[in-house]
Amino acid sequence: MQSVYLDNNATTPVAPEALEAVRECLETTFGNPSSLHRAGLAAERVLESAREQIAQRMGVPKAELYFCSGATEANNTIMYGVAHAYRGRGSHIVTTAVEHPSVLEPLRQLEQEGFTISYLVPHPGYGVTAGQVCDAMRADTILVSVMQVNNETGAVFPVAELARAVKARRRDTIVHSDGVQGFGKLVSPAADLDAYSVSAHKLHGPKGAGALYVRAGVRCRPLLRGGGHESGLRAGTENIPGIAGFAAAVSAAGADRERDYARVEALRGELLQVMDSIPEAVVLSPPGAVAGTLAVSFPPIPGEVMVNALSEFGVSVSTGSACAASRNKRSHVLEALGFERRLIDASVRFSLSRMTTAEEISRVAEVLRQAVKRLRPVAERVLR
Ligand code: PMP
Repeated sequence: MQSVYLDNNATTPVAPEALEAVRECLETTFGNPSSLHRAGLAAERVLESAREQIAQRMGVPKAELYFCSGATEANNTIMYGVAHAYRGRGSHIVTTAVEHPSVLEPLRQLEQEGFTISYLVPHPGYGVTAGQVCDAMRADTILVSVMQVNNETGAVFPVAELARAVKARRRDTIVHSDGVQGFGKLVSPAADLDAYSVSAHKLHGPKGAGALYVRAGVRCRPLLRGGGHESGLRAGTENIPGIAGFAAAVSAAGADRERDYARVEALRGELLQVMDSIPEAVVLSPPGAVAGTLAVSFPPIPGEVMVNALSEFGVSVSTGSACAASRNKRSHVLEALGFERRLIDASVRFSLSRMTTAEEISRVAEVLRQAVKRLRPVAERVLR
C-alpha cells in the first residue's frame, strides 16, 4: 500500500537532496569540526558552508546563527537565556497563549522563578495585532515572543510588523519568534527580529538539527556549557550530517519558494473542497492560514479514531499537535481560541508541503470519505 504523509508535525519524509547530503557527510566528512587535522578542517568547511547557506536564506549575518538540536532547544535557550541575562533590567515577558510547549513550558518555569508572563489570546482571525502586543508591554518588559505560524491552525502572525512596533515603543525589549512552521515557506522576518528559532525536519531535513539566530549585541546565557562550541552559546560537538542535511533542505525549499507555495495552496484548496462535500466537517483553520496546514473537525468522531482509521489506509495525519496528542491532553491552542470541546476532541490536522502531490490529495479525499461514512454512525451510537 502506498503511504501518504500529511503529518508535518511528526512524520516528514526527508527530501532527496537532504538525504544525499547526510549520506555524503557520514561517508566522507566524519571529522570533528573542532579538530585541527585535515578531517576536522573538512568537517568545519561543511559546517560553515551550511551556516552560510541557512543564514543567507534567513536574511541574517552568518556569525549570528547558532546550530543546535532543534527548535525545542532553540526556544528553551532563548527563553531562559534572555530572561536570566536581563533579569537586572526587568522581569516581564509577553507571549501568546497558543505558542508551542517548547516556549510555554520554559516560561512556566520562569514564572516559578518570579518572572511575570502575559499570555495574549489571539483575536478571531487567530492572530495577534501590534496593538495587542504594545498594550501588554510594561516598563520592565524584557522579552516578547510570538510565533510566526501556529503549528495547529496554520494562523500566520505578522511578526516583522509586531517587532517594529515593539522596537518603536522600547528599543531594548528583545523580540523573538518561533519560526518553525514558517521558515522556508514564507518570507523570512528574521532581519526585523532579535532572535528566531528554526528546525530542519519541518522543511524535509533530518530530525535532530535546528538553529537559533541571535542578533549581535543581544545577551543570551547558554543552556549547555562545555567546550565553547558555537561561539560559546551552545556547547557540544555539532551534528555535522544533520546540519548538512538541514542546509540542503533549506536550499531545496528556497529554490522556487513562491512557485512551491502557490502549488501547495492550490492542493490545500482541493482538500478544502473535499471538506465542503463531507457533511458536518468543520474547518478550524482561519482564512489566510499558511498553505500547508489545514485543521478540520469531524464531530462526533474522536480525532484519534480518525487518525487510526486513515492510518489503516496508509494515510498519516495527526490530531491537534503531535506533542499534545501523545500526552493525551486537549489542545491548549484550540482551547485558547474558544472552540467547543466536541470540535477540539474531533480535530485532525492535515499538513501539506512542496513534496505533496495531486495524486496523494485525491487518494486522501477518497479515503477520508470512506472513513467518515464508516465511523460516523458508530461514533453517534457510542456517544449517544
Ligand atoms: N515550535 C513549533 C511551532 C513546532 O511545530 C515544533 C515541532 N512540532 C517545535 C517548536 C519543536 O521543534 P523540534 O521538534 O525541532 O524540537
